[in-house]
Amino acid sequence: MAPRISVIGTGYLGATHAAGMAELGHEVVGVDTDASRIRALAEGRVPFYEPGLPELLRRHVESGRLRFTTDLAEAAAFADVHFVCVGTPQGPGGAADLTALHRVVDDLVPALRRTALVVGKSTVPVGTAEALVERIARLRPSVEVDLAWNPEFLREGHAVEDTLRPNRLVLGVPSPAAEWALRQVYARPLADGTPVVVTNLPTAELVKVSANAFLATKISFVNAMAELCEVTGGDVAALADALGHDDRIGRKFLGAGLGYGGGCLPKDVRALIARATELGTPESVDFLHGVEAVNARRRQRVVDEALGALRRTGPWLHGRVGVLGAAFKPHSDDVRDSPALDVARRLSREGAWVTVFDPQASVTARTVAPELRYAANAVAACRKADVVLHLTEWPEFADLDPARLLEAARGRVLVDARNTLDPAPWLAAGWDVRTLGTLVGV
Ligand code: NAD
Repeated sequence: MAPRISVIGTGYLGATHAAGMAELGHEVVGVDTDASRIRALAEGRVPFYEPGLPELLRRHVESGRLRFTTDLAEAAAFADVHFVCVGTPQGPGGAADLTALHRVVDDLVPALRRTALVVGKSTVPVGTAEALVERIARLRPSVEVDLAWNPEFLREGHAVEDTLRPNRLVLGVPSPAAEWALRQVYARPLADGTPVVVTNLPTAELVKVSANAFLATKISFVNAMAELCEVTGGDVAALADALGHDDRIGRKFLGAGLGYGGGCLPKDVRALIARATELGTPESVDFLHGVEAVNARRRQRVVDEALGALRRTGPWLHGRVGVLGAAFKPHSDDVRDSPALDVARRLSREGAWVTVFDPQASVTARTVAPELRYAANAVAACRKADVVLHLTEWPEFADLDPARLLEAARGRVLVDARNTLDPAPWLAAGWDVRTLGTLVGV
């Protein structure tokens, strides 16, 4: 019989995973301590922006295959496999804060009345799972409880596709029985040929943080090359194309620009540095300090470019900046450690009058950055702006009418901090286009 599933923690990861598991044919209960979130999900409403997820959620809530509760005991009684998807935010000194994870284990394990497999999906420092095995033993469960780690690689904005058709499955398992149970859960993607790596607990934990550290490194590498291009007259876009043709390197994640952000990459890089230090091998990840430094410099570089332009256009205190984008990346309303919002807020702190437009993230941005102004569209954000900054590469920004924006603006400097706008129509309309390390108008 197929295992019944609980998903504990229904944020970006858990809500998508719960709906995805129902789509794969399972009976699922989602659990969260946040009652308003549970109410929304139970009514078929997704409390964040994720393309395709509302339809999936509604379908399975209506079919009765997916339900939600705040009662962990209900999940303990119902499910055979418990996916733990709670947040592991950055704690003091950069290390991951495991408070939520510990609380779930402490509450769940004593409530279990049937043999269970607890599966960690949250991103954690290596060694966490082995410590949890000991924690579970100390809780003296009345039934057999196994712990596995199955890290998640979904990308916000593509989360549904990544959940239903993952590009790989990593199963960190302590026993053949745990592997068998997870193979039952993922029977459909496995039958479709999804590659699977079966390994031990520490490797599974490390795969996730090392994947994110690698991606951050790739972004910072190309951004370091952008810095060199800027001082030598090189063109980082052509350089990235040339590098990308080498299939040992690949073109993905070689987009030079404002750098990485979001709820995962920055915190996972810092957590890996903190964990390596705890383990007595800080030198293994020394290079990640360089990765972080390049990333931080890119944000400052855009702030400086904007302030420089404001100074040239007039009394820059109270100069106006129009900002296109607040989300940390397109197709998302997530503003956690968003480079776009960080740049906008720094300029506001410098005394600029900053107005932001984002197609989806204005509501989430306003909650963390209420000091900024938010416009209903791009033209309104650029009205009377001395400088316009393109900070999140939403595809619709490529379709903006540069002439209309120039009419609305007061100045004519456009900083394309994502290097994704075609400069030709902007130049033709009269904009002074600045990019990060690419050549414009040649
Ligand atoms: P999130 O903050 O959106 O969601 C966490 C949820 O857990 C919240 O709804 C919170 O109320 C709930 N929660 C906290 N304590 C709880 C408890 N004791 N019982 C039940 N629910 C509880 O976080 P997220 O972005 O979904 O990330 C979760 C984990 O997944 C993190 O470790 C993250 O690094 C990892 N991850 C996230 C993504 C992503 O794209 N967001 C991708 C891969 C991995």
